[in-house]
Amino acid sequence: MRDFTLIYGCMFAGKTTELIGQYNASTVDNHERLAVKPLLDNRYQAASINTHSGLQMPGHRIAKAEEIYTLITPFTKELYIDEVQFMGPYVIEIIGEMMMNGVRVVAAGLDKDYLNRDFGPMRALKNLATNRIQVFAKCNVCGGKAQYTYRQSDSKELVLVGHNDAYQARCLEHWEEGMKGRL
Ligand SMILES: [Zn+2]
Repeated sequence: MRDFTLIYGCMFAGKTTELIGQYNASTVDNHERLAVKPLLDNRYQAASINTHSGLQMPGHRIAKAEEIYTLITPFTKELYIDEVQFMGPYVIEIIGEMMMNGVRVVAAGLDKDYLNRDFGPMRALKNLATNRIQVFAKCNVCGGKAQYTYRQSDSKELVLVGHNDAYQARCLEHWEEGMKGRL
């Protein structure tokens, strides 16, 4: 059984940067590595996974985790999944299966939503992971270590694609301060 590394944290914590760092540090050949990211937005279909800071790796956009089966080959040794929280409930089973089949898995995801509730499969994935890397952002208010996602807008929609400016990373103190009267 191969290992599964889960990179997790709040928004703006550099999860994709850490994922691409792991991809770049890998010593297996390109054709033995598969990277995927959820297709949340049909307006464009990029063939790479990018960070705001300009880092990128080749990757496929898929609508749900089940599509990994159509992309994996007998040569695949490593699977990289960005934004794993949006991959749907079967992602847990599929990652477990990959591990059993000798594929090393590295996934990055948002572990909590803006109400600090476990995001989709993230709690189960934390339990399944053999290696957990928590990354932190900078608090938008005080500049301290942040691990909470704060949403300025009051919309109840969980996913506001392309509206990342509605979110901030905050430390516990300033997340609680902002949520006063809202919870
Ligand atoms: Zn703060």
